[in-house]
Amino acid sequence: MHLTTYLFMKIICIGRNYAEHAKEMKSELPTEPVFFMKPDTALLKEEDFYLPDFTKELHHEIELVLKISKAGKHIEEQFAHKYYDEIGLGIDFTARDIQQKCKEKGLPWEKAKAFDNSAPIGKFIGKDAFDLKNINFELRVNGVSKQIGNSSDLIFSFDKVISYVSQYITLKTGDLIFTGTPEGVGQVNIGDKLEGFVNGERFLSLNIK
Ligand code: MG
Repeated sequence: MHLTTYLFMKIICIGRNYAEHAKEMKSELPTEPVFFMKPDTALLKEEDFYLPDFTKELHHEIELVLKISKAGKHIEEQFAHKYYDEIGLGIDFTARDIQQKCKEKGLPWEKAKAFDNSAPIGKFIGKDAFDLKNINFELRVNGVSKQIGNSSDLIFSFDKVISYVSQYITLKTGDLIFTGTPEGVGQVNIGDKLEGFVNGERFLSLNIK
């Protein structure tokens, strides 16, 4: 982990931001963005991920990630595009068995979502390279396509999400926003190789150990 670069950053994750994923989780479609956070210790920039022993059901959630480039609070949606400059790909690793217990008891999700290395990220590139409303992304496990998403299917747009979150939490340079996962989440196992693609280009590679 590059602590010098990422010291004091935070990770904000949007839940249920693709209708088909909300459906597969048997969750209601949100009427406003759902968000939760991971600490900086969740960030993983290495290619090896060690499966934690506290879960029997670790799920991959591939997500487009925004990198915040300017501090802001109460950001209006029309200006939100000025607050992020790069887009990358990350995995919101989720201990689904633990999350399910948390949900049943109405407890917070941190144990299931915020553990060490639960937020692997790949490379980032400038957002000007993208048509923001038409970004394709994909996760392959052992070469087999498991999740395919497109930013056109977001329930809440990048700008909406930035505006909404910043009403509650000040965004700072270097913060990351995981924007939600499409359908197809599933279990990872030791020995798996996970590869993430954006518009056909490999952005992320991860070996499960
Ligand atoms: Mg997620």
